[in-house]
Amino acid sequence: MIDLLVTGGAVLTADAADTYVADGAVAIADRRIVAVGPAAELGARFPGAPTLDARGCLVVPGLVNAHSHAAMTLFRGTADDVDLQVFLDRLVAAESAVLSAEVVRAAVRLALAESIRAGVTTAMDMYWFPEAGLEAAADAGFRLVTGPTFMDVPGPPDGLDFAARLRLAPELLARTAIRCVTPHSTYTLDPDRLLAVAELAREHGALLHIHAAENAAEAETVRRRHGRRPVELLHHLGLLGPGTLLAHAVHLTDEEIGLIADSGAGVAHCPVSNLKLASGVARLPELLAAGVPVGLGTDGAVSANALDLFGPIRAAATLHRVGSGAPDPTLVGARTAVRMATVDGARAIGIGALTGSIEVGKAADLVVLDLNRPHLTPRHDPWSMLAYAAGAADVRDTVIDGRVVLRDRRLLTIDEGAAIEEVEALAGTLRGRVAGPGAGPTTRREKTT
Ligand SMILES: [Zn+2]
Repeated sequence: MIDLLVTGGAVLTADAADTYVADGAVAIADRRIVAVGPAAELGARFPGAPTLDARGCLVVPGLVNAHSHAAMTLFRGTADDVDLQVFLDRLVAAESAVLSAEVVRAAVRLALAESIRAGVTTAMDMYWFPEAGLEAAADAGFRLVTGPTFMDVPGPPDGLDFAARLRLAPELLARTAIRCVTPHSTYTLDPDRLLAVAELAREHGALLHIHAAENAAEAETVRRRHGRRPVELLHHLGLLGPGTLLAHAVHLTDEEIGLIADSGAGVAHCPVSNLKLASGVARLPELLAAGVPVGLGTDGAVSANALDLFGPIRAAATLHRVGSGAPDPTLVGARTAVRMATVDGARAIGIGALTGSIEVGKAADLVVLDLNRPHLTPRHDPWSMLAYAAGAADVRDTVIDGRVVLRDRRLLTIDEGAAIEEVEALAGTLRGRVAGPGAGPTTRREKTT
């Protein structure tokens, strides 16, 4: 007996052999994928199984967002078109003024509604009140990978100092399915604190997710303060390793790329955020050539605004052709970008054995895209279609851990209307309570001539 047979669609598995089944099916039992193959064969093997009819559709692995700050949906549109420093100043002030566990829960719920609609089934997340984010994710049936967060800022939203946060961390780690700690960066935490967080991660067998080398000013600040660039410092402190995921990793020397590759750490590439904040163009071709597992992230909804991973997929596939070297239309490309958003993203996070591809034994995380659309016709190449033409609006069904959470474009685990209303109401109080820039919509008139 199986729980669900997703049948009749083309199945792009993203397994090691890039298996593609034109008229395929995926059988799901006890939250896992138990069979993948031709629809006729699986139909005969599992007669009478509950089905999800995927005829005329493309079935792909659930997308993996390798770097996000889900609750930042609340601040979407409040710090656009500024550099990273202004962005951070506005954001940190707004966060200190309004955040609470309740607020984070509401903002994450909205983020998950958006993510599920865009076919995202897993996200590596870093934010204040991570326990509230995890609760919202459990309610929505979404795989949010997050945990204790560490960042030294004046007036932190949770009102805790570093020691208190460290003391409370084991309790949260003990009740999360995928253990993870998220120290913010080498410029918001001193080396002794980074070492303490790394020790916490080791003790609990937790993944470690940290921002590194996002822009040139950060690299220079860290070098001046500590005598080493961000990735060099992480290596020096022993924080680079197979369980470590670096967000951004834009400004890297050849030596730093070597350090990351040798350590087995992964990178979350966030090209849309990097473009919007003018942080730079990451050395993605070099990272890939060095064998670094690279996933794709949206970053938070303040820096990238949309939690739709199709944007980063398209940017990653194309941007690097006009990057640092001579223009080259063969760099990265559709297949590599889509694999970064699925199987390689899962590997970069450190959960490659659990999700990222449609393979027997993995969690049943998959997405059904409706191909009966003008922009997805004709269907020559599924990789090309996904990277260059498809979008969140084409996602018809989303299955996470064997549970259908979006069916025929209807969210089954989140009251979408309530989620939108709640965040709109919170945004109203935000405009009233936070003074200065970033408190609300831009009022400055843009030059139109
Ligand atoms: Zn970030």
